[in-house]
Order: sequence, then structure tokens, then C-alpha cells
Amino acid sequence: MTYYSLNRIAPDTSFEQAVINGLAPDKGLYFPKNIRPLASDFFSSIDHKSKIEIAYEALKQFVGDEIPESKLKDIIEDTLNFDFPIVELNKNLSILELFHGPTLAFKDVGARFMARCLGYFNRDNTQKVTVLVATSGDTGGAVANGFLGIKGVEVVILYPSGKVSKIQEKQLTTLGQNITALEVAGVFDDCQDMVKRAFVDDELSKQIKLTSANSINIARWLPQLLYYLFAYKELKNNYKNLVFCVPSGNYGNICAGMVAQKLGLPVKHFIAANNSNDTVVRYMETKSYHPKPSVATISNAMDVGNPSNFIRIKELYDNSYDNLKSNLSTYSFSDLETKQALLELYRNYNYIADPHGAVGYLGAKAFLKKEPEAHVVILETAHPTKFLDVVETTIGKEITIPNQIKDIMEKPKKSIPIKSYDDLKSFLLKG
Ligand SMILES: *Cc1c(COP(=O)(O)O)cnc(C)c1O
Repeated sequence: MTYYSLNRIAPDTSFEQAVINGLAPDKGLYFPKNIRPLASDFFSSIDHKSKIEIAYEALKQFVGDEIPESKLKDIIEDTLNFDFPIVELNKNLSILELFHGPTLAFKDVGARFMARCLGYFNRDNTQKVTVLVATSGDTGGAVANGFLGIKGVEVVILYPSGKVSKIQEKQLTTLGQNITALEVAGVFDDCQDMVKRAFVDDELSKQIKLTSANSINIARWLPQLLYYLFAYKELKNNYKNLVFCVPSGNYGNICAGMVAQKLGLPVKHFIAANNSNDTVVRYMETKSYHPKPSVATISNAMDVGNPSNFIRIKELYDNSYDNLKSNLSTYSFSDLETKQALLELYRNYNYIADPHGAVGYLGAKAFLKKEPEAHVVILETAHPTKFLDVVETTIGKEITIPNQIKDIMEKPKKSIPIKSYDDLKSFLLKG
């Protein structure tokens, strides 16, 4: 598969190079040159296919012959070694739980797939690749876990000291092996700035191969399209008019769903549910795009003022506002509304959501007011344990902590404190 840069200056490239480089040399996001719809019997017979068969059929065109069939199947099997259950709330609403992976975040799938692709591409290289990420919490854990033990890949994670939750910190700092956590005296933006500086530092790039692992990387972004196919498989015989509601921050997950639609998935509509970071909501109302600095909310993985994947969404709908408008509804909700939704889900359905899923529930309800015949699938992107304080105080009940978390809470934290870009650079150069 050939990929082109959405800035349209850099030359086209292969899947392998797009995965290794992350961003194109002209700083554009990579996008697949053509998306070939799957055969119609793929969808009619999807109930008889396994998760692995579905994933292989759907993803193979994006990889092409750059990874041999049997190897790609191994990568997929390894990536998807947990469940994606659906909980039906009523005839209009279902919840697709994407939090059963090792770090209880939906980002596990993309991180695991990318790590294994990178490991394959680096299989006989003597020069190791260093994955550098800044995290405000969730991404770092999924990336650290996804890349753990992958040969030829070192992972360096920067996180702001004292600004991530206890659980998140344990997820970053207890793994060891090829994962190093750098604890930055500063806030998330300081971590992000240091990472950005490292990527444009010529002295560094002469000596080490650096890559990123955020959702701009196609290998982290594309496998998320599988969620939508898995949900369709479970629900197609019970409901027509399937609509997906996606709690959105950088718009990578929902954009992957739109790729599934391009592959022929019979989906009626998408809903992007946002917290008060509402740049896309305002765009859909006014047709003008004005990013704003992000504001902090209780659904903090969606605190994004300028969603990086929105440009891919525009490309998918041929940069036509009207075309996008007929496929996408967007809503924004406050923290107060989000807490009320957590409580409502618990009282009415005995369902304990996390704040991101609760924003999704609000988006689904708002949409059902105008389209009461729809069946809306809400993507629940994190386990409520990850947002323990707000969920427990809101619903007034203790949450059972899953085993994945219990185990790591007992392990000792290992991190290296750093203060400045120079500290980061000297760490990278001696590593
Ligand atoms: C990353 C994240 C999101 C946002 O996903 P995007 O693909 O960036 O839109 C939503 N919920 C949780 C829990 C996340 O970690």
C-alpha cells in the first residue's frame, strides 16, 4: 500500500516507511492512497468469521506485501488477545467495551499493533529504534505495555511528575526491560515540548533513530477500524440503522471508524461526543475552524484543542463540508452533565461507565432525540477504575479493581528524574 502526505509535498511512501517515520518529512499526516471496499460477502458472512479472520481481511490491504501473510496473522493474533464485549442497554443503545486490554484503555490495540509491526521491520537491523513519547496519562501506559519486550525497540516515556494518577504512574514505571520512564519536573506541555525538540535535533538524529507512537502513526490509527467491524458482527442481526458514538479527543478512533465505512461497513452515521473542548463542534456549526487551547476536564484524555486527525476526516469525505455533515453529528458536554450521565447510567442501567463513556452516552441520547429509530453503539474507551475518584464519588459506590491493576500496584516504581531538554538529550545519547 502506498501512503501520501496530506501536506502533499513529501513523496509517497510505503507502509513500512510511514510506520517508521510517523510523520511525513513535510510534517503532513500519512494517508492511504486508495481504500478498496471489501467484498460484499465479507459483511454478509461476518457472523461466521473469527475476530482474527475479520482483522486480517480488513487490514491486509493497508499493509500490502510488506509483511508476509503468516507473520501479519501472528501480529494480529497477538494484538487482539483480549475481548471486545457488547452490553445492550435497551433497543436503542449498546455499549462496546474497548477497555479489556492490558492497560484497560482502548489505545492498547493500536499500541500493540504498531509495536509488533515496528519489531518486524527492525528484525535484522543492528541499529535500534527509540520510541519517544510524552504522556499526560493514558497513552504512555498503553505504549509502554504494547512495546514491552519488543526486540530492537527502546521506549522512553516522559511524564509530568505528580500530574498523573497513581495507577497511571505505576503503569509507566513498573515494567522495566526496554521501557524507561523519565519523570519531568514540569507539566505535560513541558514533556511535549522536549519531545518535539528532540525530533528536530539534527545532532540527535545523526546518532539515534527516533520515532513517535502517537495516533498520527498509521499503525496506531488504522487497526482501530476493527472495533466497528466487531460491533457490526455482534449486532447486525438484531438492529438496522447502526450509528456509532465515539468519545473524541484527537479524532483518531472515529476517523478509523469512517475508514471502516469506506471499506463498506453498513453504518448510518457517526456521532463525535466531546467534553468542553469543542473545536470540531464549532466547526460543524459555523464551517470555520478555530482551534483553541485545551481546557482541563474530568474526561481528560479528550482535552484536545486542535484535534490532529481531523484533517484525515476531511480527506475521507473529499474535503466536502456537506458530505461530512451528512455523516457526522457532534456534541459537547460539561463536566456537570458528564457526572449526571455517570449517575444516570448507574441508576437506570446498573452500568458503571468512566467519564469518557459517559460523554459518549450523552452524545447518543442527544442524537436519539432527532433519530429515534437508530441503534447507537457507544464506544466505552476506558475502564472506570482509571478514573476512580470521580466515578466513586459520583455514583457513591466502590469499584472492583481489575487484576491487571492489582498486580502492578504492588510493583516498585522506577523512574529517572529530569529537569530540562539537556537532561533528556544526554540520557538519549548515552543510552
Ligand atoms: C485517547 C482517548 C480518547 C480519545 O480518542 P481519540 O482517538 O484521540 O479521539 C477517548 N477516551 C479515552 C479514555 C482515551 O484514552
